[in-house]
Amino acid sequence: MRVISHLAGRPAFLPLTSRATSYASHPHLQTLSRFTPLRDSPFIKRQLHLAPPFLLDDYTPRYLTLSSVDIAKKRAKAYAHLRKCNLCPRKCGVNRYKETGVCLVGAETVKVNVIAPHFGEEPCIQGHHGSGSVFFSMCNLRCVFCQNHDISHQRNGQDLTPEELAEWYIKLQEVGNVHNINLITPEHVVPQVVLSILHARELGLRIPIIYNTSAYDALESLELLDGLVDIYLPDFKLWSPASCKRLLKAEDYADAARESIKAMHAQVGDLCFTPDGIAKRGVLVRHLVMPGLEHEGSEIMKFLAEEVSRDCFVHIMEQYHPDAYVGRPKTRGASAANGEAGEKRYAEINRAVTEEEVTSVRKAAEKAGLWRFIEPPRHDGFHL
Ligand code: SF4
Repeated sequence: MRVISHLAGRPAFLPLTSRATSYASHPHLQTLSRFTPLRDSPFIKRQLHLAPPFLLDDYTPRYLTLSSVDIAKKRAKAYAHLRKCNLCPRKCGVNRYKETGVCLVGAETVKVNVIAPHFGEEPCIQGHHGSGSVFFSMCNLRCVFCQNHDISHQRNGQDLTPEELAEWYIKLQEVGNVHNINLITPEHVVPQVVLSILHARELGLRIPIIYNTSAYDALESLELLDGLVDIYLPDFKLWSPASCKRLLKAEDYADAARESIKAMHAQVGDLCFTPDGIAKRGVLVRHLVMPGLEHEGSEIMKFLAEEVSRDCFVHIMEQYHPDAYVGRPKTRGASAANGEAGEKRYAEINRAVTEEEVTSVRKAAEKAGLWRFIEPPRHDGFHL
């Protein structure tokens, strides 16, 4: 492997915090089924996701096809958005060079927790060499069950300029030999990400860009990313405004996710692969099944089939575990005053999901007409 000169002398990959290994347990990053029966499910019938029209002979990342005029416009818009930030549905309207909004991140730099080749993503994303993952600190959502809260709710990590970030993309490509650059929780730093991709293009980046998002994005943000992102990897977490308000602290989450995922699909379409089984362009939607909320998952599947595409590639994830604020003792306020000491916060989701809950979402997806799923591997090797 070749170490390019301007990166020589730096550590191999970014050991940004003491929690750098925690990403291995991130729900985004685990694909194995813990429910053995699903492996033998009658749902697993066909492997047509690699067949035409979802098969590409070859692929050139979209950012390599932009004209110099498009590039200049993107740069100008990125800086303009930072001066009046409406880049997510929080719509803070702040000048991020002078103050911060809800996401608590400024304009000049981004805070990054981990940068490394990663082998815990979906097989079509991680491939044989790993996905070049960049975990941004902080988030524009406040999920009470955040499966990655040490990164997303805390300001752990290292500040990097867009130019420094671009150098890490090149290092991931040249030293890590990864299949893609996977930007994880980037919703609140889209302008900096845009500038970093454009700079990396000049440095020789040539692998696809993945925008790995909660789907709490503004349409303006997705417009800025159009032409730069090859694969959109949105979560669709919850459906009802009441659940979104209580568990994500964003009552309008589902509205934003619906609009965002439709806009993402309009840009890049259904997920497509090259013959090696690696995803190169399109949308892959993730849904983490939540305890007692499988009916919301079923609504999400119906929406994807009816309003996005029946060929939408979907990953129904079953690895939810109580985390962050879930299951913590109630110590303040009315509950303590009412003598409810010992009660747990968010008790209704303080357990793992059951096999029945996962199966019901899967059945709803099939009933709605979806058929392209990330399946659990039926062997211990690669699953392409
Ligand atoms: S990214 Fe969202 S939360 Fe952050 S300042 Fe902009 S509008 Fe506010």
